[in-house]
Amino acid sequence: MVRRTMVHPHASTSGVLPEPACLLCGMLIPNTRRSEFPDSGKSHPLLQESQWKSLWKPGLEHLLVPSREVENTFTTNFPRLWSCLCRAIIKESDTKYRLTGINLIQDRHLNGSYYVPNDPTKARISGKKDFPYDGRVFTRFYAASIKRQPREYKDKTIGYVVHAHCWALFGQVEGLKLRDAGLAKFVQVCRKYWKDHELWQIYSDFDRLLYTSTMDIYRNPFVLPAIREAIDCAKIEHFRQSSCFNNLPLELAISICQWVCPITDYTEDDIKNTRNLLLVFGWELPEWFWRARLNSHLHLFFELDKASKIGSPADWQLWLNLMSLVADRSRFVSTGLANRERVLGVMLALEKIYAD
Ligand SMILES: [Zn+2]
Repeated sequence: MVRRTMVHPHASTSGVLPEPACLLCGMLIPNTRRSEFPDSGKSHPLLQESQWKSLWKPGLEHLLVPSREVENTFTTNFPRLWSCLCRAIIKESDTKYRLTGINLIQDRHLNGSYYVPNDPTKARISGKKDFPYDGRVFTRFYAASIKRQPREYKDKTIGYVVHAHCWALFGQVEGLKLRDAGLAKFVQVCRKYWKDHELWQIYSDFDRLLYTSTMDIYRNPFVLPAIREAIDCAKIEHFRQSSCFNNLPLELAISICQWVCPITDYTEDDIKNTRNLLLVFGWELPEWFWRARLNSHLHLFFELDKASKIGSPADWQLWLNLMSLVADRSRFVSTGLANRERVLGVMLALEKIYAD
């Protein structure tokens, strides 16, 4: 994967305030203008999503919805919108931090600060443009630097930013001890990792967006409609023909399929041919046949645990659907799998730092 990084003055000690960056994926939050993503009124980009459209009422001070709904939504209208939807980890003392809810983090206002709902189960998806700040509902904070904090931050509330979707993905990785380590430790481990790694830049200007929209980091790493589609399509029963080859010895059926679809570097055509063979002859291949072909990618599909118990040979359609998501590199990138793979890689590296 080609890295698109820029060295930037994140360690500023005075003058320029640090740009917010996601602690989990290392992406600088794009500096979008509010004319592009209006964060108030009925033009708020999340209100364009059909599920929330009817919730808007003029004069509403804040429109808050369960944060889980925002985490599970794939935003279609603005490909980069997900990268501005963030939570903050507010520093209360060196050992005490708290996680907030979700808000759109974009161009600085309120003297360079941002604000987020206090309640981690809530996401703000619109409201009034100018509203009296209420500390019981929101926290106003300055984006903390991953390196040293600038002098201007003395006596101010600071918070580390995480993408709402990266945080949701973090919650899905099995066996991470870092998740139970407490937020202070989590922040410490992430800062240690990013001090040695460059952050990732996403460009905000529209031409760049068109040019780079197929690049991996532009894709939401948590909500991947292609995976949901692969699971849903596999639930449709396909009519299998009855044939004299139905009773072929299993070893022979496996040999034919191994010849048609190699373990690595299989193509879309190989997958199509295997699918046709199984449809026509009704062979049930053993689980190891499929695992061998998806082995290095299985950890990317956490959705399987909830949607379907993969593992039986009868899930051949699901196995083939997943193989077709990883067979082609451009598809792997455009579906978001490449970004998911990158972010999961960071999470495993964080876990290793914590364990050492
Ligand atoms: Zn992130």
